[in-house]
Amino acid sequence: MELRFYNTLSRRIEPFEPLEPGRVRMYHCGPTVYQRPHIGNYRAFLFADLLRRVFEARGYEVLQVMNITDVGHLVADADDGEDKLQAQAEKERIDPWELVERVSAEFFADLEALGVRPAHHYPRATQHIPEMVELVRRLLATGHAYRVGDNVYFDVHSFPGYGRLSGNRVEDLEAGARLEPNPEKRHPADFALWKSDPHHLMKWETEFGPHGFPGWHVECSAMAMKYLGESFDIHTGGEDNVFPHHECEIAQSEGATGQPFVRLWMHTKFLQVDGGKMSKSLGNVWNLDDLAERGFSPLDYRFFVLRAHYRGSLNFTWDALAGAREARRALNDLRGRLAAAAAGAAPGRAPVVERARTDFAAALADDLNTSAAVAALFELRNAFLRDGLEPAGAAAALDFLVEEADAQLGFLDPTAAVGPSDEEVEALLAERAEARAARDFARADAIRDRLQRAGIVLEDSPDGVRWHRS
Ligand code: AMP
Ligand code: ZN
Repeated sequence: MELRFYNTLSRRIEPFEPLEPGRVRMYHCGPTVYQRPHIGNYRAFLFADLLRRVFEARGYEVLQVMNITDVGHLVADADDGEDKLQAQAEKERIDPWELVERVSAEFFADLEALGVRPAHHYPRATQHIPEMVELVRRLLATGHAYRVGDNVYFDVHSFPGYGRLSGNRVEDLEAGARLEPNPEKRHPADFALWKSDPHHLMKWETEFGPHGFPGWHVECSAMAMKYLGESFDIHTGGEDNVFPHHECEIAQSEGATGQPFVRLWMHTKFLQVDGGKMSKSLGNVWNLDDLAERGFSPLDYRFFVLRAHYRGSLNFTWDALAGAREARRALNDLRGRLAAAAAGAAPGRAPVVERARTDFAAALADDLNTSAAVAALFELRNAFLRDGLEPAGAAAALDFLVEEADAQLGFLDPTAAVGPSDEEVEALLAERAEARAARDFARADAIRDRLQRAGIVLEDSPDGVRWHRS
């Protein structure tokens, strides 16, 4: 089934075509590690994981990169002002490098708890300074950038495509009151590539001067192109990243290489609280520990996020989270009931399961419509509770629930996994031996596959089959 996604750049839903057949290369704007990411940030990161899983379920080889911003992200996403990391480190009276280590560790632990598949690279900005300097150098050489003292700026008038992603027009931006006048800039909408500040704690000596550090936007361009090449398939972030961050990334990357940077831009809507922004000043910022204190597991939150469409608004309330927890429990319970009804049978055809499978796949292929995908699971559950299923049908439903639905949405409890008991394994092995004796190898293989998926490793030995749990 053809995958179709909404592209922020074209403002349309488009069929997905990878640059290289069978491979997808994607970059996700990751956390600024000055404080533990809140659950709103995880809406953006869970979306990245969903994309990864949907591609992998369809046989794509995925190369996934998420950066860690540990320098240069200034408050209010602006060009001037305090570095978020430095400000927080000073508040806590600790070294900014120590803060980076602590928050990164919290971030990785959260990702694991949320069942996120690890990206292939998590590049840290501070470990890619030479790549950023090289990119700035290229922009100076191609006439897209200019130096003023030890600062380097991007000249937005040198790049006619500036504004295409966000729909902003340079003239409007410059007429707008949002831009602080900066006498160093040629044009008010120009943005910093490299900044100099002797008071900055994280700084590097380069050809631009002794006390420099990179601009936030240039970090992502340099790291994305290092790991994914000058042109790659997908770039994601939260809706606030569209402007200025991603607009500036496009200008820098394409300005330097002359190549199209990214084919598909995808953005998640913000998680809201009471219809407004989740923000520290309003005291409505929650993290995974806050959820745990109220009895919610990270997977409850994962399911809460993933059953809403990523481009739809999503309002966080404790009641809504409780609703997601109930729904998740119902699906865990469904797995247990299906396992009991299947009683070790091999999967066979059952129309309700076929329908669920088709509806589920079609929903995800339709711009990742996870709400419709989850609805297909509940249709199956309702049909099963109402009419029951033959063992072969129940086995097919169980296969679908675990191998397709959970493989892509990741909502089932791993701890409560319903593996076969020792007796069931022995019974299945006896059945497999019988099938082999009757030369029904398809059936024998199906049983072996089924056991394998349940984590049972078989070893054929001269004394018969031995097994253990992996
Ligand atoms: P930051 O740590 O501020 O650099 O943000 C990391 C990622 O989280 C970015 O992609 C943001 O767009 C995203 N983000 C921030 N707040 C929210 C929110 N309330 N809902 C969804 N995504 C968010
Ligand atoms: Zn970024």
